[in-house]
Amino acid sequence: MALMINEDCTACDACRPACPNEAISVGDPIFAIDALRCTECVGAHDEPQCRLVCPAESIVANPDFLETRDELQAKYETLHS
Ligand code: SF4
Repeated sequence: MALMINEDCTACDACRPACPNEAISVGDPIFAIDALRCTECVGAHDEPQCRLVCPAESIVANPDFLETRDELQAKYETLHS
């Protein structure tokens, strides 16, 4: 499952450099996660790095992208091949 950023985002830019997949971009007015690039950090880290660093706790599951761990791993490998 990809993650998404909700309206509690303060656009502080803590999350963007933490993402191993370059999935986070500056939005207007809040940041955005490209669900096609987010692997929930599967393949790179044990837990979602953006969620760890977000001071506003504004990063949540994206219900439109329900993916298994195996699918997230395959997505990561495709992104980095
Ligand atoms: Fe990037 Fe990981 Fe956050 Fe997904 S969960 S946007 S891959 S840092």
